[in-house]
Amino acid sequence: MAQKKKFIAGNWKMNGGLAANGLLLDAIEAGIGEPRCDVAVCVPAPYLSQVADRVAGLPIALGAQDVSAHAQGAYTGEVSGAMLREFHVRYAIVGHSERRQYHGETDAVVAAKAQAALAAGVTPIVCVGETLAEREAGSTDAVVRRQLAAVLDVLGSRAAEMVLAYEPVWAIGTGKTATPQGAQAVHAALRAQLGAAGAQVRILYGGSMNAANAAQLLAETDIDGGLIGGASLKAPDFLAIVAAAQ
Ligand code: PEP
Repeated sequence: MAQKKKFIAGNWKMNGGLAANGLLLDAIEAGIGEPRCDVAVCVPAPYLSQVADRVAGLPIALGAQDVSAHAQGAYTGEVSGAMLREFHVRYAIVGHSERRQYHGETDAVVAAKAQAALAAGVTPIVCVGETLAEREAGSTDAVVRRQLAAVLDVLGSRAAEMVLAYEPVWAIGTGKTATPQGAQAVHAALRAQLGAAGAQVRILYGGSMNAANAAQLLAETDIDGGLIGGASLKAPDFLAIVAAAQ
């Protein structure tokens, strides 16, 4: 598999504030130089405008952490893909395990969100991953295959336009990371499932990726980048991961 340009995306989750965001982006700007990988930050919705202005002209794309499955209408609290586009949002995370777990998002909802994002010109970063119980039951492959299949069914020929993220739930925010070989095996299986689209789709690893383990994970053939939670809130750590991806 030919190497693609790597992609490092920060997921700030529900963290930050006007002042803290400014300081974090100041520090990232000071150290980022001209990265040889693609870089994005996925920020809470209220800060899209602030961060859109702040990263304009920098080699940092803007991402959202969710998108509505609907185009418009009576969906209180939801944000549509078209609204995201107005704030220069390029990426939207969909199907993060925290949304599946705490907001009851099903495979079908995740697929509909991925489709709505693409329809609005926003690239979905589709997250799949198994829980610890599923892993211990030996069903990792079956779980991620089911999650990805739901998205492929809906996206059809547009599947090649998405970004995929393998995020084992037991590794998210826990300090436990999949071994590079373990992650690579899942990534290779996902790539095979993507079929023809597999040559174009970047498959990110997420789950306690940090400055110390990034280089090893990113060295694996089918690991095309990282979705970074906690470490994306500390500029030196985030910059070290970006540097490891070059
Ligand atoms: C995430 O939230 O997508 C994530 C990978 O978090 P962390 O890096 O903190 O494990």
